Amino acid sequence: MTLAVVTGGGSGIGREIAKALRREGYEVAVTVLPGTLAPGDDGLGVFPCDAGDEAQIEALFDKLAETYGRAPSVIVNNAGIQTWSPLLKLSTEDWDRVITTNLRGTFLNTRIGAGRMVAEGRSGAIINIGSGCNKLAFPNLIDYGASKGGIEQFTKSAAAELGPKGIRVNCVAPGAIETDRTRLETDAYAEEWAALTPLRRIGTPEDVAEAVLFLASERAAFITGQTLAVDGGVFSQAPWPSYG
Ligand code: NDP
Repeated sequence: MTLAVVTGGGSGIGREIAKALRREGYEVAVTVLPGTLAPGDDGLGVFPCDAGDEAQIEALFDKLAETYGRAPSVIVNNAGIQTWSPLLKLSTEDWDRVITTNLRGTFLNTRIGAGRMVAEGRSGAIINIGSGCNKLAFPNLIDYGASKGGIEQFTKSAAAELGPKGIRVNCVAPGAIETDRTRLETDAYAEEWAALTPLRRIGTPEDVAEAVLFLASERAAFITGQTLAVDGGVFSQAPWPSYG
């Protein structure tokens, strides 16, 4: 059975990705922030690990080797946070927190996880969860947008370096996806984004999970370094004045 690890797999999109991988026949471990309640098992292994903490990630991969007898062949870098602030009021602490979890976390889990794959002579697939929000300047999300833009470029460079070692690296960039978290952003999150989206609906965690399943699988055997938008077309469409 192929072993997959999904960071930040306790809720939202990460949870759905983990469940979908499990249904597809993968053995799946998810990471959750230390101190948070481990959610109901869904047949998943649950491992506390802060996605931005190097020592904890080294310990995670040791623990995975001990538990499953091997390194994961699929790594999904999903853990992500955002803060909301205009640039001139954005604190250094918030900037560091967002960059640490999102971008540093993707780097560390890739370097350490791919290192373990290479040491075991194993090929694999790494899927980074980016965002459509680095395609445009989103208000109050400059730290988040920078982290996701960084993830997209990191994906290309990592793909170029890890390709010769049999490891593919791709990015999935969701548009507006309805999760417990995004539902709290505005009163009518789903309706507002559906109206802006060419496919006229909001995305679901299942939409994102399908793209991850594809990129993890042999069906994507010749695809690496790419970002696949899962956004109903919303970030392909420029804002345009109305001419009546
Ligand atoms: P959630 O907040 O539901 O999921 C994020 C998960 O990551 C949570 O379980 C959270 O745990 C966990 N997490 C946060 N920080 C850490 C950390 N340091 N170490 C380990 N786990 C951590 O959000 P979504 O499901 O919406 O987002 C998932 C990913 O998708 C993120 O990378 C996000 O940026 C991206 N995305 C989401 C979009 C959307 O519309 N929903 C759009 C574009 C991209 P806890 O809850 O305990 O904090």
